[in-house]
Amino acid sequence: MTPDDEACFEVVVIGGGQAGLAASYWLTQRGIRHVVLERARIAEAWRSERWDTFCLVTPNWQCRLPGFPYDGSDPHGYMSGAEVVEYIAAYARSFGAPVREGVSVHEVTYGDEAGRFTCLTSEGTFLAQHVVLAIGGYHVPVIPEFASEIPKGIVQLDAASYRNPSALPPGEVLVVGSGQSGCQIAEDLHLAGRSVHLCLGPAPRSPRMYRGRDVVAWLEDMGHYDTPIESFADQDAVRRKTNHYVTGRDGGREIDLRARALEHLRLYGYLRTIEDGRLVLADDVRMRLDQADDTYMRIRAMIDAFILERGISAPEPSPYLPCWIPGETPTTLDLADHGISAVIWCIGFRQDFGFVKLPVTDERGEIMHQRGITPVSGVYVLGLPWLYTWGSGRLCGVGRDAAYVVEHIANG
Ligand SMILES: Cc1cc2nc3c(=O)[nH]c(=O)nc-3n(C[C@H](O)[C@H](O)[C@H](O)COP(=O)(O)OP(=O)(O)OC[C@H]3O[C@@H](n4cnc5c(N)ncnc54)[C@H](O)[C@@H]3O)c2cc1C
Repeated sequence: MTPDDEACFEVVVIGGGQAGLAASYWLTQRGIRHVVLERARIAEAWRSERWDTFCLVTPNWQCRLPGFPYDGSDPHGYMSGAEVVEYIAAYARSFGAPVREGVSVHEVTYGDEAGRFTCLTSEGTFLAQHVVLAIGGYHVPVIPEFASEIPKGIVQLDAASYRNPSALPPGEVLVVGSGQSGCQIAEDLHLAGRSVHLCLGPAPRSPRMYRGRDVVAWLEDMGHYDTPIESFADQDAVRRKTNHYVTGRDGGREIDLRARALEHLRLYGYLRTIEDGRLVLADDVRMRLDQADDTYMRIRAMIDAFILERGISAPEPSPYLPCWIPGETPTTLDLADHGISAVIWCIGFRQDFGFVKLPVTDERGEIMHQRGITPVSGVYVLGLPWLYTWGSGRLCGVGRDAAYVVEHIANG
């Protein structure tokens, strides 16, 4: 079947999240004929892959999709999931983004003699000179093989499928992983009165407010969010680092796991494996809390140095003393003995670009690119964490990447 003109575009953008829409904005500015194919609804990840009490961790003023910076009444607040959906949907409306919702792309291949790419979709075939992959970077939750050792009656979820405490069966809950999602989900359950066990990982933590301002504001002034990935010696390590834990909940605050431990949220070391319904754990709670605090203190020291260097007038540093020091912690935990009825895996996600039948992925299945430009001429990617800067996978930085990619398309 030859697609009619209606299905031939200069650019097909796959994904109607913030990255796809930012690309669409710049394509629209340049008058480039394109379509955005979205398998579900605009901003679907924010609608269906976040828990009910989700709030942004980054302040609202940092939401700056191109041509549509946040201009609401609460710039120093942290939008709820529903507010983010509305912000992104309003963005699409603001420039009449040509989005087709409910169109799932099943395959992207080399196309016809004219060198166009073929996108096979649930609504037929689309041809394009250029394809922008804007499907986010969190596709498949990482679940270890030993998860199969968990007894059948225990519910297993991941950070994208967890919704709220009452959706879980009665009983105690195990959260594995202490990155942004793991800590916030563990707190969500704890604050709802559930008994929570949390296995720690390598995540660092961040202060929320320091010396009178949100830490994000200091880091922004320090150029932290403009630092390109090329300036790091080990780019792979930077891309793999777990995000700092801190929250936008309750108007924004720190997450202090030591304080939560005093309230009986039970902390454990790294989960090594599961054997016969028993967790096998490292005895490293103290080391992991100390390491998270080291980063916390390092961020404060960087801000102190910046304030000193620039002669900025700011409130004096607030003292920090750990409120709880763990002793020896259990190295095994029997799920049944503790009446654990649910396990929530929060140990990350991996990419899945398998529907792109072009040589754009490496041996790990991860997409190869230089600032969004893949090895296949005419194929681009946007929206990955650290695609170019820290903000590339976020509402603050994706616009710059999209501008760069669209300029490449326009000049190509
Ligand atoms: C827990 C969590 C907290 C976060 N907190 C913040 C924060 O505080 N601040 C911040 O700025 N960022 C935050 N982010 C990061 C980031 O903003 C989101 O990951 C964001 O959703 C990425 O936008 P995107 O457009 O790149 O991808 P997505 O939002 O994932 O959009 C991709 C779209 O592509 C569609 N799609 C996928 N495959 C296909 C296909 N084959 N065919 C058609 N459509 C397809 C999907 O339905 C989806 O709508 C957070 C992320 C997570 C996971």
